[in-house]
Amino acid sequence: DRQKYIRNFAIIAHIDHGKSTLADRIMEMTNTVSERDTAAQLLDDLAVEKAHGVTVKSRTVRNYYVDDRGDEYQYNLIDTPGHVDFNYEVSRSLSATDGVLLLVDATKGVQAQTVANYRLAKEANLTIIPIVNKIDNLMADVDKTVEEILGLDDSFTEEEILKISAKSGLGVDAVLTAIRDRIPAPTGDETAPLKALVFDSKFDPYKGVIALVRLFEGTLNTTDQMLFMAADLTSQNKEVGVFAPFTTPLAKLQAGDVGYIVTGIKDAHAIRVGETITSVAQPTPAAFPGYQMVQPMVYAGLYPRGTDYKDLKIAIEKLALNDAAFQYEPEQSEALGMGFRGGFLGIFHLQIIRERLQDEFGLDILTTMPNSTFRVTLKQKDEMVMVENPTQFPHFAQIAKVEEPYVHAKMTLPNDMLNDVMRLAEGRRGVLEDLDTLGSMLMVTYKMPVSEIAYDFFNELKSVSHGFATLSTEIADFEASDMVRMDIAIDYANVDALTFVLHRFKVEKFAQDTVTKLRDLVPRKLQQMPVQAIVEGRVVARENIPPLRKMAAKGTKVSKKQEQLRRAGQAKSDIELPQEVFDAILDMG
Ligand code: GDP
Ligand code: MG
Repeated sequence: DRQKYIRNFAIIAHIDHGKSTLADRIMEMTNTVSERDTAAQLLDDLAVEKAHGVTVKSRTVRNYYVDDRGDEYQYNLIDTPGHVDFNYEVSRSLSATDGVLLLVDATKGVQAQTVANYRLAKEANLTIIPIVNKIDNLMADVDKTVEEILGLDDSFTEEEILKISAKSGLGVDAVLTAIRDRIPAPTGDETAPLKALVFDSKFDPYKGVIALVRLFEGTLNTTDQMLFMAADLTSQNKEVGVFAPFTTPLAKLQAGDVGYIVTGIKDAHAIRVGETITSVAQPTPAAFPGYQMVQPMVYAGLYPRGTDYKDLKIAIEKLALNDAAFQYEPEQSEALGMGFRGGFLGIFHLQIIRERLQDEFGLDILTTMPNSTFRVTLKQKDEMVMVENPTQFPHFAQIAKVEEPYVHAKMTLPNDMLNDVMRLAEGRRGVLEDLDTLGSMLMVTYKMPVSEIAYDFFNELKSVSHGFATLSTEIADFEASDMVRMDIAIDYANVDALTFVLHRFKVEKFAQDTVTKLRDLVPRKLQQMPVQAIVEGRVVARENIPPLRKMAAKGTKVSKKQEQLRRAGQAKSDIELPQEVFDAILDMG
């Protein structure tokens, strides 16, 4: 009977369609927080999230809702992230819920990630409450948005689509009653053996691993001995509780509840999302199937710039504790010194990490050109190697085959932009897979190499579509590609940080663009320095960095020192590479 008054749900939406605003409104209308507290959007508390307006880490909040009959319900709201790079976090949060609010901005209509999120919810067999948001906006086209939502799913009816303004609160009452009436209450035996799913985790330097869980069966008391089935670890429970929205310890969690567990485990990487927690005394016979390990899609070097390597190391370790998708290992570059190779879900994820290092840790860092993974089959012994760093790309004479990861890239766009978008996708080696209409919009799916998406595809898509097109990606598989390695030599010395792997048909243009940018951006020296792009032993493009003018050079200490170094034959290590060099190369795509 206790479970009758519990609802576990999430809000899913395309970015900026109002998820955080609706979450705030729900917390406010259930008196979870006062109006003043919500001013700064409680759920988005990291500095980066504010800057980007997206939610990076999931937050689970328990609200108490008293309905018109005077019954009190526990509304567990699980906030999900809203960007393409974070789809894996969405699906893992969804597995803890029984239903979702599918929010669509009436000024924008159904977008690529509305569709992607809808599919995730459908696959998880969740109850879906479709909602049109921003009906207060003068630009809102409510009827058209309703049509588009109906086009998503044959089983939707016009009557069930709610129309609201999350901003003003108009219609949000009906959302609260729909959660009660449409989303099923959890079931699960409170006296059965404990079976809890870990759908997120945080690391606290004092408390260790804090797991966010949904209990499907049984009861967990503080001080219980727990068994982590996938990790095969036992530990004594230290504390359980909920976020309401602040940390609130409780005596126990029971089947149907969503909450946190202070696991007492100090190894930050021991507990993975998808872990099953049961009790040592009475273990459950069946663990959850578990989740796939998150695979980084994009790699880039992270180097300290005017900051200490040790400080960067500490900051990176801290970041990784709370971001299971971010991977790293130490790396050494001749040009840039000691640093790290980071693995990211996508370019946006890389940007977030870079900004967090700056904003939260005050570090000035340099990030190199991102690249995707390559699977290289060597002629000798038919050996296969995975290459995450272009400098490790084997010599062309040894290579039998190169493969690279592909994604299905789904885009929504207005009809009249199809030609521009097709030209863009095909220029990026995209192959058309599907073309469909969605209301007045088109849905186009291309199979594309990750390496092509990684180089700023999203920004270009936005630009050719005047901001209208949207993108969501799904990992496909590895396919053979004619990739080659391009080295850059400045003053006849290879600069390892400027090593690229790219498709053969891009070589000519990319090589010329790169040497031109380097000519303009690499700090000059007293002597003229050639910049060469080298592919398979041939110079494919060349420019000269002009010498500093004599007048300007006079009295500049740095140049003198560099000149000495050059005479000592150490020219290789004294090329200065400002961040602008990498940014400029990334920009030209
Ligand atoms: P999220 O990315 O889905 O979390 O979206 P946000 O909640 O951050 O909202 C994105 C923007 O839309 C913000 O500027 C909100 O103030 C605005 N917004 C959200 N809901 C409404 C609404 O109902 N009406 C109007 N006019 N603006 C809204
Ligand atoms: Mg948000």
